[in-house]
Amino acid sequence: TSTGPSGREHDDRARRLAELDVRTVIHPHSVIGAPEEPLILERGDGAMVWDVTGKAYIDGTCGLWQCPVGHGRPELAEAAAEQIAKLEFYSSFGDYSNEPSIRLAERLLELAPPTMRRVFFTNGGSEGNETAIKLARLAHHHAGRPERSVILARTGGYHGMGGGSLAATGIDRLRAGYGPLMPGIEFLAKPHAVRGADVTDALIAEIEERIERIGADRIAAFVGEPVLGVGGMVPPPPDYWPRVQEILRRHGILLILDEVVTAFGRIGHWFGCERYDVEPDIIVTAKGLSSGYIPMGAVLVGERVLDLAGGAAFLHGFTYNGHPVGAAVALANIDILEREGLLARADRLGRRLLDALKPLERLDHVLEVRGVGMMLGVELDRGPDTAAAAAGVQARARADGVIVRASGNTIVLSPPLVIDEQQLDALTRVLTEHVATA
Ligand code: PLP
Repeated sequence: TSTGPSGREHDDRARRLAELDVRTVIHPHSVIGAPEEPLILERGDGAMVWDVTGKAYIDGTCGLWQCPVGHGRPELAEAAAEQIAKLEFYSSFGDYSNEPSIRLAERLLELAPPTMRRVFFTNGGSEGNETAIKLARLAHHHAGRPERSVILARTGGYHGMGGGSLAATGIDRLRAGYGPLMPGIEFLAKPHAVRGADVTDALIAEIEERIERIGADRIAAFVGEPVLGVGGMVPPPPDYWPRVQEILRRHGILLILDEVVTAFGRIGHWFGCERYDVEPDIIVTAKGLSSGYIPMGAVLVGERVLDLAGGAAFLHGFTYNGHPVGAAVALANIDILEREGLLARADRLGRRLLDALKPLERLDHVLEVRGVGMMLGVELDRGPDTAAAAAGVQARARADGVIVRASGNTIVLSPPLVIDEQQLDALTRVLTEHVATA
């Protein structure tokens, strides 16, 4: 707690804000009517954030993994201000357009795998997956195969909170209580090779069997994250993606890769698919595209989808799609990622962090320490109380000035790619201490 007269003012303001927050706001992913004491953040710089009392935190997650370039970038503030001063927004529906989104589409297609051909802009990841699922279904419909509507998804996958994106999310605790979700989703097993177990053949066999049972001619697409994020930062088993792709191609099923977390450097590449040698038909991005400075997402559409859907009326879109301010910020953000070599840095620092945390696997109550690039997870064992134990680690680390996130029984890490070695080592020390006593 701060001391001295200005410290006391800080504390009074902090207390008043906290009381007001509790009385007025329903937070996403909170308990209605039983809000928690908020952590009210007000400033950020690089890998650090400060709360309203002036307390500093090392940001081990960059919020919800959205901020590869780090906090407090003046270039991004300037890009936004300049565009707002010129033209804040105009709809992109139909034949309206604006220069920043045209330039951003061009840039994204330069960076993406060569089979990507067009870009549909969104405000975030859920919208991106709604768009991808509808587009995959429409493509088959338009090509004369309306019965191809089933979406294959995976247990442990997270695709968002909308009608289709939640229906494709394979995490039970997030699905309960909302009545019937969008039909036509089929779940496959979680692709997780715990401590290197040999599971790929079984996963591939399951996909083959499921396609056989449903009938390939009823399946529109397969949706998956290259690395499971909310599902616990789980890298895919070896060879998984190329083998999945081969099956899908053979059966005319489109591949939607949800790269909302994995794109823009998080796992050392512009797009995670490059790392896993897979060429999707649709790539969904958001978060790191604008580093979260403005809500912004982009769905990249590949040539096979265009072949099927060319000429179809896509009566789909949200008011703020193609937002010029979001696009201007995204362009400036991509410039920073490139100029500062942050993709290679993610790989280097991610390996250092993984090596430093790996010894936690010796503890009986730690199931696995895993990760790729700057997406890491420490999974506690799977007993009944381990989600609470993971939440306890999150709370104690925060008290010690380190932000990590409990996702089920896993503590997930995804620091800004600009974090420095000292900050990374401090984060490691605090996390190690609290996991050891979890
Ligand atoms: N897809 C993945 C892989 C995500 O991790 C998320 C959010 O964490 C989403 C989709 C949803 O994105 P948004 O919260 O921007 O709607």
